[in-house]
Amino acid sequence: MATDKNLELFERARALIPGGVNSPVRAFRAVGGTPRFVARAQGAYFWDANGDRYIDYIGSWGPMILGHGHPRVLEAVQKAATEGFSFGAPTEREIELAEEIVKHLPAVEMVRLVSSGTEAAMSAIRLARGATGRSHIIKFEGCYHGHADALLVKAGSGLATFGHPTSAGVPPEVVQHTLVLEYNNVALLEEAFATHGADLACVVIEPIAGNMNFVRASVPFMRRLRELCTQHGALLVFDEVMTGFRVALGSAQSVYAKAIPGFKPDLTVLGKVIGGGMPLAAFGGPRAVMEQLAPLGPVYQAGTLSGNPVATACGLATLKEITQPSFFPALAKKTQALVDGLKAAASEAGVPFAADCEGGMFGFFLLPELPQNYPAVMKSDAPRFGKLFHGLLDRGVYIAPALYEAGFVSSAHSDEDIARTVEAAGEVFRSLRT
Ligand code: PMP
Repeated sequence: MATDKNLELFERARALIPGGVNSPVRAFRAVGGTPRFVARAQGAYFWDANGDRYIDYIGSWGPMILGHGHPRVLEAVQKAATEGFSFGAPTEREIELAEEIVKHLPAVEMVRLVSSGTEAAMSAIRLARGATGRSHIIKFEGCYHGHADALLVKAGSGLATFGHPTSAGVPPEVVQHTLVLEYNNVALLEEAFATHGADLACVVIEPIAGNMNFVRASVPFMRRLRELCTQHGALLVFDEVMTGFRVALGSAQSVYAKAIPGFKPDLTVLGKVIGGGMPLAAFGGPRAVMEQLAPLGPVYQAGTLSGNPVATACGLATLKEITQPSFFPALAKKTQALVDGLKAAASEAGVPFAADCEGGMFGFFLLPELPQNYPAVMKSDAPRFGKLFHGLLDRGVYIAPALYEAGFVSSAHSDEDIARTVEAAGEVFRSLRT
């Protein structure tokens, strides 16, 4: 038997890098087996160390909305690299990227560029606390906002109690101001505001929660959340690291603005697509709030590589493509075709299956209907998901190796790629039935 180069690399990696990976979900812990080490990628595909090709539905967990190695993005990055990697001084491209973001998000008047979603979410929360002079924050169970200490928290035993750390190394005092509520639960939200409203700096939410695979905040829930935040002077922070410029050009906030006239979040956190695969993220909001940031205001925030010239070139070139009028309708159609095809294949095989999508982001569950919150998501059949994952992987289709992660379609995925994926899924669904 030929040697498995993925396994060889995994063994080398495990000797030096904890778990063999630099971000936990890459390790295949939830599904078992050997992670694929990527040798190169092009368009909708990547090739692993053995030379095997996969249709890629992770796309670096969201950023690669144009697929890999888009020629105009590549050209922009190569040009920027020859001009200099990093200066620690301002550049024109930072303004251009800020202009581009502000143009498409009416809620954002000013932005600050940073290097990761974690940094952006952490800084937005510091800003919300600084701007309101309050300490408490609300987050929702199942939403992920990066790994800042105060956000690594799970629900306490009751409403009156604040959360418990979900990671060792986070002292309980650090999460004592973080209240964790159930997603889509209006009654709990009202109760929390009634008790803590005057102390709340902000509520942070993934409007379409990609870290629960794909769970939408319901329109009534979002409407009430907006009302309560306004009424109590708490800032509504939309974490659109995943959904930003991915579910629509106007991001998830534009999807809610269609259902709730005049709807806007206060702060918006962005990442992934705006960097096109380079380390770049951002947070933004109204001028009066953003001007609380250093060097103008008292809220400190900084970064050696913030607004990096190669990353901004990559982000700008990516945004240039996705702002073409036909881009999102075509991407949404493709994603919908994938979801419809998967639903039909599962139904034909008699496998319980529910799926949803928006723009270029999708999610599915081995459940009879779409879950509305984290406990319902966790009712998914994990061993069955593992079989589906490996069945697809064996057939050259790479989806997220964990059942609580969303999937991503790029403009490089062809109708044939989608058809091949649906065909592969059909085969695996039939094997799941027996
Ligand atoms: N917020 C959301 C909604 C995310 O999905 C992620 C990462 N998947 C983050 C924040 C953290 O971003 P990063 O991994 O770039 O730190």
